[in-house]
Amino acid sequence: TPAAPSNFIRSIIEEDNRSGKWDGRVETRFPPEPNGYLHYGHAKSICLNFGLAEAYGGICHLRFDDTNPEKEEQEYVDGIIEAVSWLGFDWGRHLYFASDYFETMYQCAVGLIQAGKAYVDSLPPDEMRRLRGTLTEPGTDSPFRNRSTEENLDLFHRMREGEFAEGAHVLRAKVDMASPNINLRDPVIYRIRRVAHHRSGDRWCVYPLYTFAHPIEDAIENITHSICTLEFEDQRPFYDWLLETLADIGMFARPLPQQIEFARLNLTYMVLSKRKLIQLVDEGHVAGWDDPRLPTLVGARRRGFTPEGFRLFAERIGVSKADSWIDFGVLEECMREHLNDSAERRVAVLEPLKLVITNYPVGQHEDCEAPNHPLKPELGKRAMPFGRELWIEREDFMEEPIKGFRRLFPGNRVRLRYGYVVECTGCEKDAEGNITAVLAEYLPDSKSGTPGADNYKVKGNLHWVSVTDGYKAQIRLYDRLFSYPYPGARREGDAEELERSFLDDLNPDSVQTIEAWLEPSLRYVRPEARFQFERHGYFVADRVDSSEGAPVFNRTVTLKDSWAK
Ligand code: ATP
Ligand code: MG
Ligand code: MG
Repeated sequence: TPAAPSNFIRSIIEEDNRSGKWDGRVETRFPPEPNGYLHYGHAKSICLNFGLAEAYGGICHLRFDDTNPEKEEQEYVDGIIEAVSWLGFDWGRHLYFASDYFETMYQCAVGLIQAGKAYVDSLPPDEMRRLRGTLTEPGTDSPFRNRSTEENLDLFHRMREGEFAEGAHVLRAKVDMASPNINLRDPVIYRIRRVAHHRSGDRWCVYPLYTFAHPIEDAIENITHSICTLEFEDQRPFYDWLLETLADIGMFARPLPQQIEFARLNLTYMVLSKRKLIQLVDEGHVAGWDDPRLPTLVGARRRGFTPEGFRLFAERIGVSKADSWIDFGVLEECMREHLNDSAERRVAVLEPLKLVITNYPVGQHEDCEAPNHPLKPELGKRAMPFGRELWIEREDFMEEPIKGFRRLFPGNRVRLRYGYVVECTGCEKDAEGNITAVLAEYLPDSKSGTPGADNYKVKGNLHWVSVTDGYKAQIRLYDRLFSYPYPGARREGDAEELERSFLDDLNPDSVQTIEAWLEPSLRYVRPEARFQFERHGYFVADRVDSSEGAPVFNRTVTLKDSWAK
């Protein structure tokens, strides 16, 4: 017997496949509105929709839900296409724009009017809102609710022709003013907007509302399972009413697409709302849409997050029917897991202190061999030049060691990883007493990979970069953008009148730029090459700020979660 479906959406699909509802067809869609850049939450939806299509031999459409003329732009269309491709999904020829359906949508509206299921309302907006009623009070019919079909058709046609001012009339579906679900109390489905659209130009001055447009888009594209976030649950009755009504008058064939809701992604230490992201960018709290600290997918890419890491994350968090918070550390751990497996190892010294090997001949150099990946010999080895002067981490030396310190201190021996065992003989200081160099002697028969290496058992194992061969590069150490798990949320004990903003919870130390010493093999890496810098974490060559021979590195994530409690 096949394994039980891993989530409730798969269960629905498998039940449909058993009953033959769709003849085995699975057709989903990812329908972003092109009014901003995609974020981690969208990645969850993309992985879900494209992932289901992959799993069941179906297809997933990339559809731009561009029915709202005001906020949509070509720049965002391009950005979305790039982000979905970057995640590694393929929509084949199924790239659609909802604005291409404006004529069909208009004809659907005409069909509703002819069937007595829609009418032109000419009430002022405030009055219309008032008559809609409340959760506890039923709505009241508009005095225009019983206009004749002829009058409705004529008015709606003239709305389209541009005879009226914005707000003069709207078209409403005629459903049920007494319904306990306010969304069914004759929702507005068309309004007059004298605004040019980024694709249709000024061909239209009436635009459909989302609740009307979306079900029709799904039906036009023969979507089987229309997956959306929980806030649309209350809209499902209208979704079904509309498509059933349109099927009754022959506009669409049954079976009709089924709307299924799942819980949106909420991540601690992060905000995932376009409005808040726009504010972070516009007010200059971050450097732009692709700032590596932002949860946008362009930002994630610059940060060094990987498509494989996002897919792993989507799989691990699953889908559910209840809103919850996922710890930011779960996302980071998924990135770490993929990078640990795939990223080659390199050496970087982030806080350099000079080590002088006093018994190593001046001017002499030799190569040490370092494996590119400890578990993948097939990734090969590289040469690391060794010489008399090396950079080591400042924290790897203590003149007076604390208890348990196993690295360099006078009299102690450590291994310089992939190189020799050295014994510390002292240090040099400047006039103020700051340590300027550590002194050591090496044991010539101790080189890693030679027979003598095994004669020395030492506890410390330090990374290093040759002073003459290494090079200095800019590194940006990124950390979480917010320092409180629920940015802007009220906290226990807050005074009633206290208002918090998510901006108050910005982490003041979310980026630090340093100059570090890198091993020479890192000099000519291509942009977006990803590495583990031993002991420090995962880093990526920034795709924007790097230039030939001068990569700038971004820290993607540390080796361990320093935020875990
Ligand atoms: P935002 O709320 O950030 O403005 P949106 O929902 O308005 O996002 P759309 O472009 O309409 O953005 O979203 C496209 C798809 O992505 C929708 O199907 C939506 O349900 C889904 N989506 C958006 N945010 C999330 C999220 N946080 N988690 C999961 N799916 C999401
Ligand atoms: Mg939206
Ligand atoms: Mg939204």
